Amino acid sequence: MASKVFFTNARTKPGVSLLDKMDALCEASDLKGMLSKGDFAAIKLHVGEPGNLSFVAPQLVRRVVEKVKRTGAAPFLTDTNTLYSGQRNDAVKHHLSASLHGFNIETAGAPFIVGDGLTGSDYVSVPIEGGQLKEAKIASSIYNATALISIAHFKGHISAGIGGSLKNLGMGCASRAGKLVQHSDVRPVVKQENCLGCGKCIQHCPASAISFTDEKKAQIDPSACIGCGDCLAMCPVRTIRNKWAASTSALQRKMAEYAAGAVYGKAGKVLFFNVILNVSPQCDCFANNDVPIVPDIGIMASKDPVAIDFAAAEKVLAAEGAPGSAVGHMCCGADKFRELTPDSDWKVQLSHAVKMGLGTMDYEIEEILMV
Ligand code: SF4
Ligand code: SF4
Repeated sequence: MASKVFFTNARTKPGVSLLDKMDALCEASDLKGMLSKGDFAAIKLHVGEPGNLSFVAPQLVRRVVEKVKRTGAAPFLTDTNTLYSGQRNDAVKHHLSASLHGFNIETAGAPFIVGDGLTGSDYVSVPIEGGQLKEAKIASSIYNATALISIAHFKGHISAGIGGSLKNLGMGCASRAGKLVQHSDVRPVVKQENCLGCGKCIQHCPASAISFTDEKKAQIDPSACIGCGDCLAMCPVRTIRNKWAASTSALQRKMAEYAAGAVYGKAGKVLFFNVILNVSPQCDCFANNDVPIVPDIGIMASKDPVAIDFAAAEKVLAAEGAPGSAVGHMCCGADKFRELTPDSDWKVQLSHAVKMGLGTMDYEIEEILMV
């Protein structure tokens, strides 16, 4: 049976704002019906690395928070610590970054709690069945919540191809140890003839796995590398490469298995939003965001994380590449995500999530409050 995906477009008019549209999606997807008084409702989002401005607006999140509060449930905003260096790899920095972007009580209406604690070591191992992994190390605050609402910014991703609800669940709800498991197949190497010797990769590597040779060329110690992928993103001449085709598929499969772990014990109490606005070519983990790859599309809500991600991806593919963006030359129907990350087949995460029983790629769109 097809899964229902509620969709509102990005157009607005006086009297119908995006905030009104968020309210309408909450109503249509029966957010109220899945919550009870006394529930702890984790609202999983990505606060955005400082420097990035394409994250979901906290004012949109506030509309969901207010709906949750009306049910008597206690909402809290949450995300987990990153593997890579930056401004979100411990709870202190993460909290400051969240507050900088408005993910706090004042703007978003609920407290921000880092799901896996001060250093990313607070997690609960939950069993997973049907895949390669036998357990998932899920951030304890997310595990302990009785309901989970994922609000994902839908965009491209350097290794998963797309970043939507499945990624927000699988990677986003994992503790640092869980992220390490998912990244364990990522093993970058430096093509030294192109190395500028700038040292950016050394500066950012959280595992001190990179050093200079006598010729001042970067080299990676594979025994120390934790596979976070930070150096791949940092190198200005992209001379650090990975065996992407194999490793990105493995990562996506593990991510889908972790997504199953993230919803463990929450049957009937999970809801997903994909915000398809400012669709950046890369993740909000980057400290910058390039020109959106397509015009703003809208917002979706669904109980099915596979259906909503496939529906969002198909909307992006159906749109024309935005002029001046990295895919400005691409027409309607062309696969913009594959153009951005040629070695990553983003459908792997979807098909594996289907296998894991998380949902279906067969979806039916119901349009809500269209303008
Ligand atoms: S060498 Fe390994 S641990 Fe260091 S930044 Fe690169 S991927 Fe991360
Ligand atoms: S960031 Fe790239 S160019 Fe700079 S030292 Fe590292 S490998 Fe070389």
